[in-house]
Amino acid sequence: KQTQRLDKILAHVGIGSRSELKRLAKEGAIYVNGAKVKDSGMQVNPDKDTIMVNGETVRYREFVYLMMNKPQGVVSATEDNRDRTVVDLLDAAYAPFEVFPVGRLDKDTEGFLLLTNDGKLSHNLLSPRKHVPKTYFAKVEWEVTEKDIEAFSQGVTLDDGYETLPGILKILSVGNEAGGVVSEIELTIMEGKFHQVKRMFQAVGKKVAYLKRISMGPLALDSSLALGEVRELTDEELTALR
Ligand code: URA
Repeated sequence: KQTQRLDKILAHVGIGSRSELKRLAKEGAIYVNGAKVKDSGMQVNPDKDTIMVNGETVRYREFVYLMMNKPQGVVSATEDNRDRTVVDLLDAAYAPFEVFPVGRLDKDTEGFLLLTNDGKLSHNLLSPRKHVPKTYFAKVEWEVTEKDIEAFSQGVTLDDGYETLPGILKILSVGNEAGGVVSEIELTIMEGKFHQVKRMFQAVGKKVAYLKRISMGPLALDSSLALGEVRELTDEELTALR
């Protein structure tokens, strides 16, 4: 569709409700291609027409793409009866875009989470056939060994009988903490079964005590993002993702 109602476009980007836009038009605060707008319901082409409100050009866009450093304690959903969701952490300016998380991280998992309203991109990234790699940092209870690296490289059998694809396991360190031996590892997997990382370690008799996703496909978590913080993807990141 080439043209759309002006008030609908402006409402979509969070500039105001339809009635507020009607009032703004009446006050002479809206211009399209340099001409003062009388009817806020006029048809415009958001890709071609330049819209100004209160002297500022409106950058209309259909999609937003956000990178979040997900904290623990929030669920990867848009709504939940009990818990706060990742969407609740977003600035109110994003509300009109109705973004959703691309895939899920467990409530107690931290790190890289993409949020968008681009269903097609989301679908492509999550498609089991695409094998988009996801890399996790984890602290694992007990000693992770070369044998585990070997087992993961072959794929392991989960508690429900599912045979995983090969995963690339790297041992970063093995050390003593208050509770006993703890290994720090990185694991890259090409699929995303429910609780997959935790269940892969369970399959070799070990327990994930802390889990953080550090990358997804070509994108790495921005280390300047504090837990709970969000930023938009850069054009380069978006191009890489597509
Ligand atoms: N694997 C898990 O076990 N949990 C996550 O949140 C992500 C991957």
